Amino acid sequence: IDTSDPDLQRVLLALNAGGHQAYVVGGAVRNGLLGLAIADWDISTDAPPDRTIELGQAAGLKAVPTGIEHGTITLITNGKPFEVTTFRHDVETDGRRAIVAFTASLSEDAQRRDFTMNALYARADGAVIDPVGGLPDLAARRLRFVGHAPDRIREDYLRILRFFRFLAQYGDAGQADREALAACADLASGLAQISQERIGAEMRKLLGAADPAPSLALMAQAGVLEVILPGADPGDLAALVAAERAAGIAPAWPRRLALLRAPNTTEALRLSREESARQKHLSEAPPLPLPEAAYRLGYDLALDLALIRQGRGAALPADWHAEITAAAAETLPLSAKDLMPELQGAALGRGLQAAEKAWIDNGFAIPKADLIRIARQATEQSGLS
Ligand code: ATP
Ligand code: MG
Repeated sequence: IDTSDPDLQRVLLALNAGGHQAYVVGGAVRNGLLGLAIADWDISTDAPPDRTIELGQAAGLKAVPTGIEHGTITLITNGKPFEVTTFRHDVETDGRRAIVAFTASLSEDAQRRDFTMNALYARADGAVIDPVGGLPDLAARRLRFVGHAPDRIREDYLRILRFFRFLAQYGDAGQADREALAACADLASGLAQISQERIGAEMRKLLGAADPAPSLALMAQAGVLEVILPGADPGDLAALVAAERAAGIAPAWPRRLALLRAPNTTEALRLSREESARQKHLSEAPPLPLPEAAYRLGYDLALDLALIRQGRGAALPADWHAEITAAAAETLPLSAKDLMPELQGAALGRGLQAAEKAWIDNGFAIPKADLIRIARQATEQSGLS
């Protein structure tokens, strides 16, 4: 893989210069091999944490002990952080977290990782090291546990959810490992002991995948979805994804989540205040015509509502996307000033509202003079003037 990033080189070579192994590991190697964007470079080394600090500082890097109890030091170069973690192996696990010990063995470090495609390492020169057979699995889009699935799940039940997450992102749900699926189904209840933060982080990634529908369907079949999001119904998800693709809209987890109609997502996934407000907006939006929704609620919400309606089977006009884009940009060509002093107080409000409603219903195409007349008439009829 391409490891030529000069900041990355500085970090890896600082460790190598001290006589230590240093590898890029996990998601960066996997995504590099797939030709995908690399979000962050995680680094794995046989250097103990104090040695990482020493060698980093000797090379002029800033060293921050961000997770020193699990062996993680963040080395910073040019303001860019690199998490460097000492090789570890599990000493004891309780289904939620592991007590780890440092090791000098790369293959032991690989054994404690979850899936073979996540246990790939790359040297500073870009050469990939594959201790557990992840390369052929990745090439075949085969998501496989490192070791025996039920054992690995009992060590950390979050791995059930990670299985469906990576399956959605990088796997082929049509050929999902039957034994792994069976283990996920058997052990699903163990997810109840996993924190909502960790579950929320995985579900956001799962639902943000290009097409999460096949994986989510398997997750529902295995009884896993019901443990995480009781009441969720993934039946319309494939149609939502199809509608997104037809319109060229990027995947976004909040709209996929809203489509599932699960009550209580805020608790279950520890949504932030803003995320939770958006779910509420999407699930409680009044059934307005789309242009009106776009004008009143804005483009973002109207877009999600339009796609969700299509996911549920509604047929929209071919130009719906252009329509909501235009509608969201409209502003009423009439203000309170235009109606004063003739109208005031409650009458003014009522007149404005009536004019606005007529304007929206007529495709935002009524000239100002007519809007003034409509506002006046509305107040006369109601006897408010
Ligand atoms: P992403 O691009 O979504 O961050 P990632 O592969 O980097 O994908 P992370 O959750 O950031 O995923 O984890 C980094 C690496 O740490 C994984 O690739 C895997 O090797 C290991 N890992 C993380 N969580 C677990 C876990 N619960 N059990 C075993 N290994 C894990
Ligand atoms: Mg990562």
